Amino acid sequence: MPRANRRRRDDAPLNLDRTAGGLVTRQRYGAEEWFVRRVTGAGAGRDYLCPGCQQSIPPGMPHVVVWPAEGIGGIDDRRHWHTPCWDARERRHTTGAIR
Ligand SMILES: [Zn+2]
Repeated sequence: MPRANRRRRDDAPLNLDRTAGGLVTRQRYGAEEWFVRRVTGAGAGRDYLCPGCQQSIPPGMPHVVVWPAEGIGGIDDRRHWHTPCWDARERRHTTGAIR
C-alpha cells in the first residue's frame, strides 16, 4: 500500500490550553489513539484536504481536527477530516494517507 508522504503545516498553532476545556475527545483509530477536536469552521480562511476521502474541506464547513495522542510532534501530525469521514474511519480503508 503506498504511503502518501504529504505533510501539511498549518499556519496557526493549536492552543492546547484552550482546547483542553472539553472540546477535545480521545478516540481510537486503528492501533492508535487520537485527540479529536470538532471545529465549526468559522474563521478558517482556507480549505483542507480530508485524508478520508481525499476531497477538500471548504472554508466555513464544520469538521474535525485529529492528531496523535501518543508520541512527540503530535501537533504537526494533525489532520483535518470531514466529520462523517472521521466517524466512518474504521469502515474506510484509505491508501495510507493518515500515516
Ligand atoms: Zn472527507
